[in-house]
Amino acid sequence: MPWQQNRGHYILVLDLDRRVRVTVGRLGTFTFDPGLYCYVGRSKTHLRQRLARHSRKEKTTRWHIDHLLPHTSIRVILLFPLEGLTECILAQSLARQGGIPFPTGFGASDCSCPGHLILLSPGKLTENPRLNKVRLNQILEWLKPTGGEQRWISVSARGKSSCANP
Ligand SMILES: [Zn+2]
Repeated sequence: MPWQQNRGHYILVLDLDRRVRVTVGRLGTFTFDPGLYCYVGRSKTHLRQRLARHSRKEKTTRWHIDHLLPHTSIRVILLFPLEGLTECILAQSLARQGGIPFPTGFGASDCSCPGHLILLSPGKLTENPRLNKVRLNQILEWLKPTGGEQRWISVSARGKSSCANP
């Protein structure tokens, strides 16, 4: 139970509503097209504090994701156990379903996989590339083989969180 144990893997489902050009530290400067992005992360301790930090607007930039977050809204957070999984497995599960790791190496400085930020190809599931219930259920379906707990937190536009199990 990642939330209670305060450690685990997580996926931030991010909505980007316009094209932006962002410098991601030393990785480089990239143009991000609008759409849904999934960022896969891991916190061995202090998971709740990490998620709160991701939600905060004012902070120093430490990770690649810190550069992108100010341009997006966090729509949903999916939680997974720490044991038996890696960020790479979760990212690759999404990539196998047509998600595109972009930009190469994002969030993946410590491993050799294509990256931990996955652009879900717009229009693959619905005409609307933004998040809706159908799309969220599809993402959960894709991740089922990883054995994730599938607890999710939906984050409203005002930043208030509520927990639920779908
Ligand atoms: Zn990786």
